[in-house]
Amino acid sequence: MVREQILGRGIDEPRLLEAFLSVPRHAFVDEALSSRAYGDTALPIGAGQTLSQPYIVARMVQLGAPQPGQRVLEIGTGSGYQAAILARLGAEVFTVERHASLGRRAGENWARAMVPGITQKIADGTLGWARHAPFDVILVSAAAPAVPMPLLRQLSAAGRMIVPVGSAVRQVLKRLTRTTDGAQVEDFDSCSFVRLIGRAGFDA
Ligand code: SAH
Repeated sequence: MVREQILGRGIDEPRLLEAFLSVPRHAFVDEALSSRAYGDTALPIGAGQTLSQPYIVARMVQLGAPQPGQRVLEIGTGSGYQAAILARLGAEVFTVERHASLGRRAGENWARAMVPGITQKIADGTLGWARHAPFDVILVSAAAPAVPMPLLRQLSAAGRMIVPVGSAVRQVLKRLTRTTDGAQVEDFDSCSFVRLIGRAGFDA
């Protein structure tokens, strides 16, 4: 998985590759799917949601570039896999999920993969997590119809938000870097995430 799907597609930061090598992806999917855990695809995780393709997780983390000790907010805990990668990179990880059943399972997955120290809550993540703001990096791992403004306001000076923006079927991965008078916006990969549902997202 790491050699062909991540390194093979140009993501070569040693720190990042090491994090992917050290987190067992099969601990984050149902046992019945464990033989497909390292395949080049997204996988179902229940509640109609998916764990993103390994490359897309790597790309989001690469673009966000969290440094050890930095505060990272993830919207869309899902299986907990991406949060585990962020924790292995030494970030202080906060993650929000709207489905309680997924949040509970993510907690079990972190225990199984022996990744401690992730702080999570069940809520509408489009509103961010004001109590722990500001964040150096915000990763939105669900498709947004537009950049969620409450999240932009919770970025630290020079903080970065990675967010797929577009329709419910197709999005562009964007990076917004906070500046003194707003944000600098860059477009990256075309992608297809499940919908971000909430006040600053799609309607349910
Ligand atoms: N990062 C996850 C995959 C996320 S899939 C992983 O590593 O497995 C997208 C997730 O976003 C889904 O679990 C979905 O329920 C969640 N989601 C959608 N809208 C949300 C919102 N407003 N707040 C929090 N989570 C949300």
